[in-house]
Amino acid sequence: MFPDSPAQRHEDLVRRDRSVLWHPFANLALWEREDPPVVASGEGVWLTDVDGHRMLDATASLWVNLLGHRHPALDRALSSQAGQIAHSTFLGATHEGAIRLAERLSALAPAGLTRVFYSDNGSTAVEIAMKLAFLFQRHRRIRQGRRVPATFFSLERGYHGDTLGTVGAGGIDRFHQIFGPLVRPSVTAPAPDCAHCPAGLLRSTCRLECAAMAENLLEAHREDLVAVLVEPLLQAAGGMIVWPAGYLARLARACRNLEIPLIADEVATGFGRTGTLFACEQEGVSPDFMAVGKALTGGYLPLAATLVRESVYEAVREDPGTFYHGHSYTANPLACRVALTTLDCLEAEDLLAAIPEKRERIREAWRSLDGAPFVENLRFLGLIAALDLRKRDGSALIDPVPLTVLREKARKKGLLIRPLGSTLYLIPPLSVTPEEAGLMARLLADTLMEGDRDGLFGRTS
Ligand SMILES: *Cc1c(COP(=O)(O)O)cnc(C)c1O
Repeated sequence: MFPDSPAQRHEDLVRRDRSVLWHPFANLALWEREDPPVVASGEGVWLTDVDGHRMLDATASLWVNLLGHRHPALDRALSSQAGQIAHSTFLGATHEGAIRLAERLSALAPAGLTRVFYSDNGSTAVEIAMKLAFLFQRHRRIRQGRRVPATFFSLERGYHGDTLGTVGAGGIDRFHQIFGPLVRPSVTAPAPDCAHCPAGLLRSTCRLECAAMAENLLEAHREDLVAVLVEPLLQAAGGMIVWPAGYLARLARACRNLEIPLIADEVATGFGRTGTLFACEQEGVSPDFMAVGKALTGGYLPLAATLVRESVYEAVREDPGTFYHGHSYTANPLACRVALTTLDCLEAEDLLAAIPEKRERIREAWRSLDGAPFVENLRFLGLIAALDLRKRDGSALIDPVPLTVLREKARKKGLLIRPLGSTLYLIPPLSVTPEEAGLMARLLADTLMEGDRDGLFGRTS
């Protein structure tokens, strides 16, 4: 069937991919010229392509993988559940895996999130939170004789998914601006990005002016707001923006004081990525809604959940009585079973406690970048490490071609990365060994040094 050599097989598959497929978030003209890896298998933090090359999965397969590929316990859970049933509808029926997982999530989540609504991707988990927040506010405001609000509050450079509701709350111009005519815009505050402080302050003069800006906006728009929707601690897709300490707690306090529900989009940050099980824990915040997805199944299967307070359930129970929302694969049993085992392993393997040592290996390897004029804003949160690239003369690196070249160089060294604009990052699966974490960071640093020698960042002025 296949041509003989692995190289021919690769070429054949890429050619057929190009003629029939459309990949997400791909510039089509650039993609048509690219030679993408054709992944054949995985083991731990390594991927192997059909040519037999091994690559480190430095993005955890875009932030979903937690325990590594081909984890024996997850593989076993999956095949054991397949031996029972793969799927049956959750409309009008239930199953043990969904019940146990909901109990578990509710117990692990910040206090008060007692109800779980399943879906199958992060966008819908957030969309469900947005709809439920609207129903909750509608119920409350009608009884108070006040106007029913219809606008969300979100942050510039925020990302909450690709459905139209979540696009309306999105703040990444490159992704979201073009769909403006189709969606309801949010009230937006500047991202609390210390590298580009919205108040023009320095770390030494920081008074969390960004939080005051958000508070003022909330105060001004409180009558119109359905909810505040944010990615706690880390705006991932927006460029791995790590919030200054205290911002989340200030925002949560303002929400509580003004009686505006808070939706925490923990789709990227959930399940240990930021060093704690959920990012909200780090500032003692209990949101009113929490959306999780991505790593919920350890990166095995599409499953997401929206956790809400009992008062939300009670409000909707009273009026309108039914939440008209559901998906064909709501609470898929294979995914629920794998998610339960993922949570078991996360605990049993003590992966959260091991994060600091692994992070230190990355930090050490990146010391080789100290003083490099084309690197700035090194930042770390949990097992996430990020840096921004610029030109040697300090100007912005906006041309996508050097980034494509860097990606190719990294791949030749055995490292699969996915830059976000001029931000490069490592998000290894939590199961990465300290040695592998160090290797990822070293290979990335080597890639940048080599790119610099080739003049990708311009010449020394
Ligand atoms: C990835 C992501 C989403 C969307 O999840 P999908 O499963 O890709 O639909 C939503 N919010 C955040 C913060 C994300 O990182």
